[in-house]
Amino acid sequence: MSQDLYATLGVSKDASASEIKSAYRKIARQYHPDVNKESGAEAKFKNIQKAYAILSDPQRKQRYDQFGVADDSAAGSGGPGAGFEGFSSNFGGNFEDIFDTFFGGSSRSQSSGPSSGDDLRFDLSISLEEAALGVDKDIEFYHLENDSGSAKKCSECNGLGQVKVVQRTMLGSFQQISTCPTCKGRGVIGQKKVKKKLTITIPAGIESGNQLRVSNEGNAGPIGGSAGDLYVFITVKEHDYFQRDGSDIYITLELPFTQLILGCTIDIPVLNGEATLKVPSGTQTDTRFRIKSKGLPRIQGYGKGDMYVKVIALFPKQLSSKEKQLVEEFQLLRGDEKTARNIEDCIVKR
Ligand SMILES: [Zn+2]
Repeated sequence: MSQDLYATLGVSKDASASEIKSAYRKIARQYHPDVNKESGAEAKFKNIQKAYAILSDPQRKQRYDQFGVADDSAAGSGGPGAGFEGFSSNFGGNFEDIFDTFFGGSSRSQSSGPSSGDDLRFDLSISLEEAALGVDKDIEFYHLENDSGSAKKCSECNGLGQVKVVQRTMLGSFQQISTCPTCKGRGVIGQKKVKKKLTITIPAGIESGNQLRVSNEGNAGPIGGSAGDLYVFITVKEHDYFQRDGSDIYITLELPFTQLILGCTIDIPVLNGEATLKVPSGTQTDTRFRIKSKGLPRIQGYGKGDMYVKVIALFPKQLSSKEKQLVEEFQLLRGDEKTARNIEDCIVKR
């Protein structure tokens, strides 16, 4: 919905109500389906009607001017994704707890005021090993609680959290609904900030961006209403050598070229200990091995992901005279000194 309603009617943005009305009458006559039989005229006529319906209504026009969206549902705040608002602070502490109000009170409706308290967000970082095995984490945060002695319904908004403000413009006066300045939209005054400690059980397999909801640990709601929820946003920290893709784990090993040529057995780290990898003789550089079920648990589904081990051949940069002699002997044995002269054999073909 990016239609410019003013352009549709052919008027400027500061056109008066009577200018909008006369422009509408003129252009609507021009495109009326009874008069205009050109293709597209009917669609244009509908757009004109819609534009006029909004621009001739002071409240809808004001919302359109403010939000640039010609849709009633986009008016006002509220609803998930409406953005972060107010009450944003950092309380410090042991965790990286950026603690702020979010969703702007997703569960409240425009007309009935707050029915529950604000949801809160807590950011928690964990290690990849913790994500693999699951972990219990103690967190500390602050939320608002109703002070039993002094919490009471806000008298300015009568507990609705919103007040009506009359705006006077050239088009006349109309009401706008805004957040109550006295209770900041909570509908209650006399709430206090309380430090809370909780143990959060983080399931194995969790990924960055996952959220855990803890019911009723957000801010207290209005008198008689429910509290909001606490959302714990998880970040899984980058690991020094494991890379993760969903439930699979990747690691890269550099091995002396002789280990790849001759083959070897090595113990390698996995997320919960060690595993044994058999590298067969004749393994090429950049070969990837799969170790089944050594990845992370699948948080949706069964079983575990796999672990992938890539091996890269390491060649010595310098050789002792003895080593050089052995490599030269090896080269002679294989006839490799002739290969480079036959360039066709060296080119990788598709
Ligand atoms: Zn209030």
